[in-house]
Amino acid sequence: MVGSSPCASCKLLRRCCAKDCVFAPYFPADDPHKFAVVHKVFGDSNVSKMLQKLPLHQRADAVSSLVYEAIARVRDPVYGCVGAISHLQNQVSQLQMELAVAQADILCIQMQQHHRQVVDKPNDDMPQSLDFTSSNDNIVVYDSFKNESIYGYDLLS
Ligand SMILES: [Zn+2]
Repeated sequence: MVGSSPCASCKLLRRCCAKDCVFAPYFPADDPHKFAVVHKVFGDSNVSKMLQKLPLHQRADAVSSLVYEAIARVRDPVYGCVGAISHLQNQVSQLQMELAVAQADILCIQMQQHHRQVVDKPNDDMPQSLDFTSSNDNIVVYDSFKNESIYGYDLLS
């Protein structure tokens, strides 16, 4: 032993941790699980080759990605992180749908308010029989408009 303790990978692989060990900066001895999961999924020699091909400033990001992918693969051996990605994509499209419905509702309310402002303007010349303020027909018109907006969005997306 040369004073410093071996990194997590050298400890697991029971070898001497050299001064220029490619794993040492990213797999500290106090977090052995991090290397264990990456080693299990990718193999230490593959990880070593990948890290050596990368410039120093990209290695930390590569290690985070490898650790993330390895943990996802252990949790879900069939889909790995693709499972998480498709779950998140489903959430995004669900939320886009909800947003479209909310936007259609807002538009509907704005149209109703605009209609009320127009109708509420007193017009002395207008005969009483043409005043539709209390008519239920308005609701039907707005409902069909709302549905069209939602379907219109579906076709676009
Ligand atoms: Zn080492």
